[in-house]
Amino acid sequence: MTVGVLGAGQLGRMLALAGYPLGLDFLFLDREPGTPAHQVAPALCGSFTDAALLAQLAARCGVVTFDWENVPAEALDILEPQVRIAPPRAALATAQDRLLEKQLFAQLGIATNASRAVDSPADLQHAIREIGLPGVLKTRRLGYDGKGQCALRAPADAARAWRELGGVPLLYEQHVAFDYEVSAIGVRGADGAFAMYPLNRNLHRDGILRLTLAPWKAPRLEAAARRALRRIMEHFDYVGVLAVEFFVRRGMLLANEMAPRVHNSGHWTIEGAQTSQFENHLRAVAGLPLGGTAARGHCAMVNLIGRMPDRAALLRQRGLHLHDYGKTARPGRKLGHVTIVETTARKAELRALRLLRQVESRKI
Ligand code: AMP
Repeated sequence: MTVGVLGAGQLGRMLALAGYPLGLDFLFLDREPGTPAHQVAPALCGSFTDAALLAQLAARCGVVTFDWENVPAEALDILEPQVRIAPPRAALATAQDRLLEKQLFAQLGIATNASRAVDSPADLQHAIREIGLPGVLKTRRLGYDGKGQCALRAPADAARAWRELGGVPLLYEQHVAFDYEVSAIGVRGADGAFAMYPLNRNLHRDGILRLTLAPWKAPRLEAAARRALRRIMEHFDYVGVLAVEFFVRRGMLLANEMAPRVHNSGHWTIEGAQTSQFENHLRAVAGLPLGGTAARGHCAMVNLIGRMPDRAALLRQRGLHLHDYGKTARPGRKLGHVTIVETTARKAELRALRLLRQVESRKI
């Protein structure tokens, strides 16, 4: 079967690399040439809403999925009558809009922080009065890696935040003084089979994921995350991998956002789980049985952001797995990641923190 993928970034590349051993083929569609998946699979190049390119994709593929959650809904409108799409379009549409996402969490009884839609300076004043300060103003759509966000600490910050972001639909939400952040990654098959990976503990800086530790042993949190994932997946009759990010505060989960795709905090599963999130996403969308999600060790994943460290210095480190996405370096850009698999959680964490310091201080 050929799997069509909208978006040809590093997630797409890792999907293809996981799919070839299963006997799957791939065809990508992306706006620009030279993105990471182009290195490993054939790709169509042009607009996501080009009807002729989409017809080609539909004709050549048994199923179409995506590696980018901002694929225009119009592309799926054109594709839907022609080919099966997974995950479902409704899940994608919800994940594209922070307001719909928060409303879904509330509807499904999944705890989340308070938020209000903001379309004018008056709405913002009203939201601040209702929710209080500190808060975060975010664009409802097209935000990623901390982009399209503005922190508000005092009433005087409102005018600056509106100047920075105003003019597009926004969401004002309560700032959460979290103890730490976790994410849960689950997979659901076409037959309704469900599996979840062990919980990930994530460290973000400037809105970008820097480090993931997994499995993060927190049985009560994991059980709550499992309930939330199942509810979301059943709601959409979901097929594929879904990730949900949570704040942890006083032993409770507060849902932050969801991603209807493979997720950066699940990259450790390539070397550290029985079946990687990429393979399980493909198994689900291709209608194959799901693979085991248990961890095979204690893992840490460090993102390589803005600058590639010295390759030899990385590879000299025992048991380290390097993933270089082949992208041009640019500040704040995810260029690759490394995964360390260790025999204990403590060892994995200490090695990852040392590596993160070395990378960030440009020692390697
Ligand atoms: P997001 O794009 O919403 O996932 O935000 C990226 C990161 O910014 C999160 O993982 C948090 O570290 C931080 N962040 C976003 N929203 C909030 C919030 N309401 N309170 C505290 N931190 C936040």
